[in-house]
Formats: sequence, structure tokens, C-alpha cells
Amino acid sequence: MFAEQIKNGIIYGDQNFFVPPHLNIGAFVLEKILGHNDRVALINGETEEQITYREMVQNIVNIAAALTDLGIKIGDVVAIASENRLEYFVTSIAVFCCGGISTFFNNAYTKNELIHAVNISKPKFIFLSGEVFKKQYETLKSINIIQKFILYDDKPTSNDCLNYRDLSERHVDINSYKPIDFKGTNQTCMVLYTSGTTGSAKGAKVTHLNLIVACQQKLTVSSELTPLSIAPWSSTMGQLLTLQNIYDGTKLVFLPKYIERLYIKTIEKYKIGYLAIAPPIVVMLCKSTIVNEYDISSVKILLVGGAPTYTKTIRQVRSRFPHIKHVLQGYGITEASGAVCREMELAHKEGSVGQIVLGMIIKVVDPETNKIVGVGEPGEVRISGPTIFDGYIGKDKKDDFDEEGFYKTGDIAYYDKEGYFFIVDRIKEIIKYKAWQVAPSELEGLLLQHPAVKEAGVTGAPDILAGELPTAFVVKQPGFQVTKQEIIAYITEQVAPWKRLRGGVIFVDEIPKTPSGKILRRKLRALLPKQSPQN
Ligand code: AMP
Repeated sequence: MFAEQIKNGIIYGDQNFFVPPHLNIGAFVLEKILGHNDRVALINGETEEQITYREMVQNIVNIAAALTDLGIKIGDVVAIASENRLEYFVTSIAVFCCGGISTFFNNAYTKNELIHAVNISKPKFIFLSGEVFKKQYETLKSINIIQKFILYDDKPTSNDCLNYRDLSERHVDINSYKPIDFKGTNQTCMVLYTSGTTGSAKGAKVTHLNLIVACQQKLTVSSELTPLSIAPWSSTMGQLLTLQNIYDGTKLVFLPKYIERLYIKTIEKYKIGYLAIAPPIVVMLCKSTIVNEYDISSVKILLVGGAPTYTKTIRQVRSRFPHIKHVLQGYGITEASGAVCREMELAHKEGSVGQIVLGMIIKVVDPETNKIVGVGEPGEVRISGPTIFDGYIGKDKKDDFDEEGFYKTGDIAYYDKEGYFFIVDRIKEIIKYKAWQVAPSELEGLLLQHPAVKEAGVTGAPDILAGELPTAFVVKQPGFQVTKQEIIAYITEQVAPWKRLRGGVIFVDEIPKTPSGKILRRKLRALLPKQSPQN
């Protein structure tokens, strides 16, 4: 059967998806969730607040109408900077409905990271939680790009701040509200931040069509099991899986932040049936010393993605929790609006990341010659199809797509004769710490600004819990004194927590480079000690 999916060496996922004539993902989701009526949509597992689908629909049209009244037009960017909360998806779907573009700032961003992201997407309005408001308002204000601040929690403290409540407390007639229609298929609806294969964060343009197809991919578990969402909704995995759950009418429990005891307690309290998680939480479950205090036997399935999971870890978690029937892996990437391949309850294989998803088109090529390789032969994964993003803001598509228009993922994989994919390596420079992206070039840029650093190269040291730990190789500037600890602290001050040099600093005499000065990352990786340094 898989043979029928391959044409000229290119693998085609099912191309049977629906595209509505209005081409608006907001309208598409709204039409679907109207039918979910009074089912509970979202529950905040920490505060126990909840919202039904009927309430969600009403709030979406209220916010969409308010945003239009306030001047949001097609192509205007509206940002959300908040931990996961009930209003998050109401806001972003409302933005889609009125033709705007949603973007999400992680609440752990440092001042500089936030400024960088704002400068990329240039939001007109921003929705803020109380926590982010306290931490970042002055910075956001100083950039002079954002025109309106809308607060989820607090009363406005100055004239340019509005309350979310002021926007939502109106009653727009659901039946007469009409979202914007689009003509072309390349209308952006979302900007996600990613380093791609190289460099620091860029704004990936995700289109309405991308998400219309992504919503139909049925990546979530096909049963009545209740999911628990822990990934920040500013991340691709958190955003896309939650949007799909909403589209499917699932009752989804979420947490605003990860705290081990709260997480495990929430599983017991809401009888969670499946967990959509990054690999470090699988490791945490294996090693947890408190999990036995709770009854988590309701968990039947783990959906794991965002970074590689060791097969040994999967075996461990299944042996510790025999009630877990499946640990299903998915392979995704921001540039594909989420998933590329995924395992399913009825289609899985040990060590694999599953089979091709709806809409996706994959070729596996020798990255040197661009020639397609066959079954069982490793090569770079290149992807095309209706969920592939529309390039990065301000960057020529030529750099990242090949001549046939396939996006070059920088991941090395092979597939077997049944169409299961196995990821074996990564040729792009990006490091994945607990499924978070860390761009070596960003850390190298910061290191080079330190007076005692002459040269620097950053790579990921393998780690059982985190996947990889950012590790710096440093050539000291002659005549300067600096310790490894000082360099680690210098980086810690300037970056979000996941980018810290947890793998330590290694002083070297030179950084391996090509004659043109490009860091030879494979050689750098080969210099890593067998055991990653603890300092
Ligand atoms: P992001 O855009 O942050 O989602 O990162 C995408 C990258 O994460 C991919 O290109 C892979 O390098 C890596 N990745 C995601 N899922 C997996 C997986 N299941 N196994 C191995 N690597 C993965």
C-alpha cells in the first residue's frame, strides 16, 4: 500500500483535505466549534476555571468585532504575551477572523529577545498577562511600535492600556457576525519564531491555508481520552496541538507552567487519558519520586515530539507504567505548521517517528548531490505541500527551499518499506534543549562581545534528560583572565533559561573552521568529552 504513495521517489501523504472558499482559518474553526455546543473546551488545571465551546464562540466574535472597531485590518499583527490561559485561543482565533495575524511571545523572553521578536513582526496591538505586563511593559513601550496594550488581568495603569474585559463584555450576534473572506491562499495568519536551520530567531509566516489543512491532520488521539497540555502555547507544538484539539471539540486540560507535583496531581484530578509532551517529561515520569503518591492509571497514551526520544526511555516508561498502552512519536517542525510524520494507535514501530501526515509531501535526498535516495537510505528530509510555511519575514525563500520548492529541514532520516520514518541525525546547526531551540550563532555572537573571548563555537552535548546541553568552546583573548563560571554567568544574564550554557565551557586553543571562516560544527561536536562537563 505504501508503494502507491511513492511517485518518482517522492512520498505523498493523503491529499484528501477540505479547503473552504472563504480561506479563513478563524471562520473555519468557528464554524466547526459552533457544533460543539456546551461541551467543556478548556480547563485551567491550576485555577479550575473553564470555558465551554459555546462561550468560546461568543467570546471570539465579541473580541473580533472589538478588534475591528479598534482598527485591526487585514495583515495587521496582534501579539499575545502570556502564559497559557483561557483567553489565549479566543484572542488568536478572533484575530484570524478579522483578518489579522497572530503572533506569540514566550513569557520567559529576556528584554533583548523580546525586542528582537517585536522588531520582526511589528505588532500593532498586544495582549498581556499581568505577569508579563509587570516584567516587560516598559521595554515594550520603549520600542515605540505597539499602539495598544490590552491587559488580561490588571486594570489599566495608563491611557494606552485597555482591559480584555472591556473588549469581551459586549454581545455580538453570533449568527450575523461575518469573518473576513480571502481570495489568495498565501494570506499569513500567524508568525512563529524559529531559527530555522541557521542564525538567530526569524519570523516564519504561517498561512490560513497551512492551518486549515493542519487542523484536519488528526494528530491528537482518536478517542474520548482527555489530554493535558503543558507545552507553552507560544511554541509550535503547544499552539498547533491545542488548535487541533479545539477544532476536534476535545475537552482539554492545560497548565500555565510546568511544576512536577502540580502536573502529576492534575493528571489524577482530571483523569487525564493522554499526555502530549516533549521527551524530558517522559524522562521525568520515569524518574519521578513522587508519582507513586498519585493515581495516574487513567493515562493510556503519551504523544511525544519536538525532539528525539531515546528508545530506552520509551521502554522504561512503559515498564514503570504498564497502563500506558502506547508511546507515540511525532516528528514536526515549525516550517511545516507542525507535523511531518506521526505514529498512531494502530500504526507504530519502535524507534520510528511514524508515517507521513495528511497533505505532506516528502523527498529524502543526498544533501550534497540533491539526488533522491531510496528505501532505507539516510538523507536530508525535504518537505512540500499545503502546510509548508510561506518563508520568513524579510528573507528570500531561495535560501531555505530547493529548486523544486521543497523546504530543506536539515534533518537526516530514512524510511522503511512500510513508510515509517526514522530520524538519524541533524545537519543544521540548531541545538534542541528539552525541545526548545537554541541557536549556536546567537550564543556565539554574545560570547564574542565578552572582552576575554577571542573566538567561540557552541554545540550541543548529548544528555539523557534534556536531549542536548548548549556547550561553548572558547579561545581566550591573550592577556585577559576569565573563568568558565564567569562566562556561564555572563550568558545566563542575557538569555531565556533554555539557552543557558548548561553543558559548560571548554577552553581550547582554536575553533575548527573552514578556510572561509565557517565553524565546522561536526568537528566541534567531535571535541566534546564523552561525559558532558558539569560546570
Ligand atoms: P521546531 O521548529 O522548534 O519544532 O523544531 C523542529 C526540529 O526539531 C526538527 O527539524 C528536528 O530537528 C527536531 N525534532 C522534532 N521532532 C523530532 C523527533 N520526533 N525526533 C527527532 N527530532 C525531532
